[in-house]
Amino acid sequence: MATSRILGSAFARPNLNALTSSLPLPSQISRHICSAASGLPRATQKHTRTAQFSSLIGKTGGLSRSNGREARTYNTKSTPSEAPPFAFAFDIDGVLLHVATPIPGAPEALKFLNDNDIPFILLTNGGGKHETERVKDLSQKLGVELTTDNFVQSHTPFRQLVEGPDSLREKTILVTGANAEKCRLIAEDYGFRNVVTPADILKAHPEVFPFDPLLDTVYTATARPLPRPIFTPGSGMRLSDALKIDAMFVFNDPRDWAYDIQLIVDLLLSQEGYVGTYSPKNGDAALPSCGWQQDGQPPLYFSNADLLWSTGFHLPRFGQGAFQAAVVGVWRRLTNGHELQRRVIGKPYSETYQFAERVLTTHRHEVLRRRGHHEPGTLKSVYMVGDNPESDIAGANDFQSEAGTEWCSILVRTGVWSPEHAGEKALQGRFKPKVIVDDAREAVRWALKREGWTGPAL
Ligand SMILES: [Mg+2]
Repeated sequence: MATSRILGSAFARPNLNALTSSLPLPSQISRHICSAASGLPRATQKHTRTAQFSSLIGKTGGLSRSNGREARTYNTKSTPSEAPPFAFAFDIDGVLLHVATPIPGAPEALKFLNDNDIPFILLTNGGGKHETERVKDLSQKLGVELTTDNFVQSHTPFRQLVEGPDSLREKTILVTGANAEKCRLIAEDYGFRNVVTPADILKAHPEVFPFDPLLDTVYTATARPLPRPIFTPGSGMRLSDALKIDAMFVFNDPRDWAYDIQLIVDLLLSQEGYVGTYSPKNGDAALPSCGWQQDGQPPLYFSNADLLWSTGFHLPRFGQGAFQAAVVGVWRRLTNGHELQRRVIGKPYSETYQFAERVLTTHRHEVLRRRGHHEPGTLKSVYMVGDNPESDIAGANDFQSEAGTEWCSILVRTGVWSPEHAGEKALQGRFKPKVIVDDAREAVRWALKREGWTGPAL
C-alpha cells in the first residue's frame, strides 16, 4: 500500500476546540467533547520530563542511566515501600490482538505487569460492546485478568454527557453503530433515558429510505415504538408534538452507511432537530456559515476517527473514520463546500488522553494501595504502546498532561503500520514515536530498561 494511503488524509488532524478543560471520571461530571470543525492551536512541542526522580533518592534503590536518561531503580514487590512511578497504556487491535487472536508476546507482557503490580490500562478506539462485556471477552482471549477499572474504549467518555448542567439524560438522542440496538443498550446503561435508533424511525416511517434496507431483518427485530411521530407537513401536527432529536452519536462503525448518512444529514438540515423538517436558514448567505447548522440542529458525535485499522486481513481495513469522511463528503456537496461541524473523541484527541490519565491514575492508586503503598506518589511516565501513528502515537506525543506526566510513545510492528506499507520516513513530527519495537513484549522490555527496573525479567 502506498504511503499516502496510510499517512495521507488519514493523518490530517481536524482542528479542535476543547469545550471544557477537565475530564472527570465516569462517576464525576463534566462535558469534555471537542468540536472537530473549530480551531485548536496545534500542539506545541511536548516538554520532556527526564531525571525527575530526585525526590526518591536516599530511600531505597538508586539512579542509573539508561538510554541517556536518568532512571530510578526499583526492587521487586518484596519491598513495597517503592511504588513504580510509571505505567502503561496499550492499544488493543494490532497490539494485543488481531481480531480475536492474541499477538504473540502480548499476553505474557500483560501477565508480567499484573504479577509485578505495574499498572496499565487498555485504551482503544474500538467499541460497540458494553465495557463489562468487552473486558470479559478480552480477559478470556488474552488469558489475563482485566477489569473495567483499567479499560477505556472509544465511547466510554460519552457517559459523562448524562451529567452536569447540559445533561442529555432526559433528552432524546439518536445512536448508531455496527449494532445500533447494542449501542442503545450501552447508552441506556450510561444513563441516557430516551434513545432512538435508525431502526425505530425506519420501521415507523419506511418512506424515509426508499430502498430495500440491507438490514431489514435486524431492523424488524430491534425497532421500538418512536416516543413521538415524525413531523409531516400539512398534517396539522404541531411541531412541538413531533419527534425531536437533541444529539446524535456514532458509537462505532455503522454497517448501513446509506441509510445512516441519510438520517444524519436529514437532522443536520432540520429545524432544531425535529425529524422531517428543513430549516429555512439553510443556505442563507446573510447568516454565518450561510445558515448551515445555524438552527439548533443536534450535535453530531463520533467516538473514533481512525480511517484504517488492523485486522486479520493482510491490508488495513476501513474504520469509523471512513464513515465520518463519507458524511463529511456528502455534507460538503450539499452545502457547496461548507465544513461539517462535528465533535470527535477517541485517540488521538487530547480529551480522550486526559480522560484515560484520570482513569489510569485512579486505577494505579488502587493497585498500589493493595500492595501496601498508601502514598503511591506521582505518576511520572506513561508508556503508550500502539500500532497506529495517527492515533496512538500522535495522541501521546501531542498530549500535555496537567499533572506533568510524560506520555512516551512506542510504536509496534504488529499492526496497521509497517515499514513496507508506510515506511519510517513517514513517521515525522507528531507521528514519530519515541521508539519502534517488534511487539508489545518488546515495548515493555524497552520501557523497563528505560526506567531502570531491577525486578524480574520479562
Ligand atoms: Mg490499533
